[in-house]
Amino acid sequence: MTERRPAALAYIGLGSNLDAPRDQLERALATLASLPLSECVACSSLYSSSPVGPQDQPDFINAVAAILTRLSPLALLDQLQALEQRHRRVRDRHWGPRTLDLDLLWYDGLSHHSPRLTLPHPEIFRRRFVLEPLAEIAPTLTLDGELPLTLADRLEDQTLSRLGE
Ligand code: ATP
Ligand code: CA
Ligand code: CA
Repeated sequence: MTERRPAALAYIGLGSNLDAPRDQLERALATLASLPLSECVACSSLYSSSPVGPQDQPDFINAVAAILTRLSPLALLDQLQALEQRHRRVRDRHWGPRTLDLDLLWYDGLSHHSPRLTLPHPEIFRRRFVLEPLAEIAPTLTLDGELPLTLADRLEDQTLSRLGE
C-alpha cells in the first residue's frame, strides 16, 4: 500500500552468518537503498561479532543503515521481512544462524509495542554489534537519554571488530 506521510528517519540493523555473509550484507544494503518511498542516507562500516545465544555457529557480520522513508513502521517491516525471504532466510532455532536478519532498530523516536513490532528494538541496549555501528552513523542519537557510544562502552566484554574495506 502506498502511503502519504512525511519522511521519517529510521535505523535498520543488518546481520548475517551464513552463505558468504559479507556478500549478503552488501546486497542487502544495495536493496535497502532502493526500497519504495525511501532513500538510504547513511551506512556504517561492516563489523564482525561473536554470536549471541547459541555459540556453535559462525561469527556474524553486522552493519547499521539509516534511511529516510515515507513507509509506515509496519509497511517498512513488511519490506524488511520480504527482503529476508529473498535472501532465503530460514527460521530454525531462536538466535540461530541466518543468511540475513534485518531488525528495525529505531523509527522516528517512536515507542510502539504490538505482536509484530516493538520500537525501539528491545535488544539495542544489550548489543555492542548494534550500538557501535549506530554510533558511527548517529553519534548524537539518544536512546533513553544516552548516546550509543556510552552504551556500547559498557559492553566491552562482547567481541566486536570493525572490518577494513
Ligand atoms: P532479536 O529480535 O532478538 O534480534 P531475531 O532477530 O532472531 O531476534 P526474528 O526471528 O528475526 O528474531 O524475528 C522475530 C519477530 O520479531 C518477527 O516476526 C517480527 O515480527 C518481530 N519484531 C518485533 N519487533 C521487531 C523489530 N523492531 N524489528 C524486527 N522484527 C521485530
Ligand atoms: Ca535480530
Ligand atoms: Ca530479526
